[in-house]
Amino acid sequence: MPKPESLLCPSPAGLYCPPGDFHIDPTRPVKRAVITHGHSDHARAGHGTVVATPETLAIMASRYGEAFAGSTTALNYGETISRDGVDVTFVPAGHILGSAQAVIRAKGMTLVVSGDYKRRRDPTCAPFEPVKCDVFVSEATFGLPVYCFADDKDEIARLLKSVAQFPERTHLVGAYALGKAQRVILLLREAGYDKTIYVHGAIENLNTLYTRFGINLGPIAPATTDKKKDFAGAIVIAPPSDIGDRWARRFADPLPVFASGWMRVRARARQRGVELPLVISDHADWNELTTTIKDVSPGELWITHGNEDALLRWSALNGQKARALSLVGYDEDEGEA
Ligand SMILES: [Zn+2]
Ligand SMILES: [Zn+2]
Repeated sequence: MPKPESLLCPSPAGLYCPPGDFHIDPTRPVKRAVITHGHSDHARAGHGTVVATPETLAIMASRYGEAFAGSTTALNYGETISRDGVDVTFVPAGHILGSAQAVIRAKGMTLVVSGDYKRRRDPTCAPFEPVKCDVFVSEATFGLPVYCFADDKDEIARLLKSVAQFPERTHLVGAYALGKAQRVILLLREAGYDKTIYVHGAIENLNTLYTRFGINLGPIAPATTDKKKDFAGAIVIAPPSDIGDRWARRFADPLPVFASGWMRVRARARQRGVELPLVISDHADWNELTTTIKDVSPGELWITHGNEDALLRWSALNGQKARALSLVGYDEDEGEA
């Protein structure tokens, strides 16, 4: 068996596969890139060729324009692309629309780069599929036992309770524009909320894209105030940076809400002036991380970024061989997580 490091290794631009001559989620322009999903720390413009799911390619085109790469190859879930004896197959990661784990097979070894992932159900994307492998590459954004997230149904129920309790106020929900916003909308629909949901302009394009891929978001309208509407009693969704900003002042007595895994830390919510923190994350919490490592039972666990130490300790206690890669450039901003 070859050393796994000869098939996949950290490089200045990110993880690199020498025999296939490609990078995964490179943080600077490279000749050949395999992209796991559309969040901007993973999907950057300026590569020679890009292999990604059709959804991720559409997200990149909407964000960077059609000429974001020299050429592109769309690879659906379950499809394999081969080059110089290296096979790459995409398997759902359950993170956002189009998110994929890159399964690399070469010289009899299987290495899985999971990108960002979560295990709980998300009506906006295909669920994570565990793949048995020799090396599992995992992030550890919420790799501490304190990060244990409640059921997102309970979090949405708290939002709807607040909306009923304060009908004169506008509930201004901070949710990352790609993924989180659409998930919050669908969770509201599943909880029976059928009124119009208002959205910030930065979310409209991505909503259109999700709709194009078959995600039905229900009645949505732009949160513009030209017709003297004060949005009292309404739910408005906006990027997290806008909920405490000048933009928010147009609404009737706005009540700032923020949907993020970081809201598990009350001090963070207080710092940002969030009145109603909702712990809803598109990343795996501690239980999801450790469950996934058990499900995948890799020969080796490689941890890319986040809270690496606790996961290394857990691995040692559980007889799991593990190492930290400490890749830079993937620090999740508060909103995305
Ligand atoms: Zn992501
Ligand atoms: Zn990320």
